[in-house]
Amino acid sequence: MKLCDAHCHLANLAEVMPLKTLVEEAAELGITHFLSSALRKSELEYYTELTDVTDSKVLYSAGIHPFFEACDLEYADLEELCQRNLIWAIGEIGLDRGNPEYAVMEKIFVRQLDLAMDYRLPVVLHIVGHQQQAFDILRSYPLKFLIHGYAGSLQAFNTFTRLDSYFTISERVLKEDKHDLLKAMLKSRRFLFESDITQYYVKEGEANPLLRAQAVLDEVAELYNIDPAILISIQAANYQALTGYSL
Ligand SMILES: [Zn+2]
Repeated sequence: MKLCDAHCHLANLAEVMPLKTLVEEAAELGITHFLSSALRKSELEYYTELTDVTDSKVLYSAGIHPFFEACDLEYADLEELCQRNLIWAIGEIGLDRGNPEYAVMEKIFVRQLDLAMDYRLPVVLHIVGHQQQAFDILRSYPLKFLIHGYAGSLQAFNTFTRLDSYFTISERVLKEDKHDLLKAMLKSRRFLFESDITQYYVKEGEANPLLRAQAVLDEVAELYNIDPAILISIQAANYQALTGYSL
């Protein structure tokens, strides 16, 4: 069975690295599926190209991010992507305590959730702070949610599990002070693994940052002495539940 990088920004990375080569190398090492997120207009065309030229399965979502200045996607862009049936989900969208304009942010968030409802699409969520507000909004949308890179409180995590939600395990929850959260994620069996890679996160001398999803999985397997094959089979089931495709 294969591994999926359940949250990354491939088109963003492609501006600084030879992505096709990296994707092919990752596929050889078992990372064959990518759930990538588009946040800028310039990234959109790239995905059509990428899904055509590699054997890997790259699905992408698009959304208006709550706190990323370079995000220039507009509601009309998302509508068009939905109409043309090009995206697997809306996102990443959500709430972020770094954005001082809460009311505007919430309005954009809700409008995109409504769009996801219209097209019955899953939603990729970015929730940093404002967890109770996010839950109160999300509970009225009977949709599937992929809460990416979550590293908030355990209590809020437990609240989010009341939704039809899945979580990506990222480097952020490998830190020691997040181990209770990581354990809860594992126990929920509602997890996938992510790199969240963008061009801004590439480390100096890093040959292929797409291999990070595997590194996160390996570290979790080692920390809790779990057979990696079990982690891989759980995330494969979750990938299928979310996207409708099998790994
Ligand atoms: Zn992201």
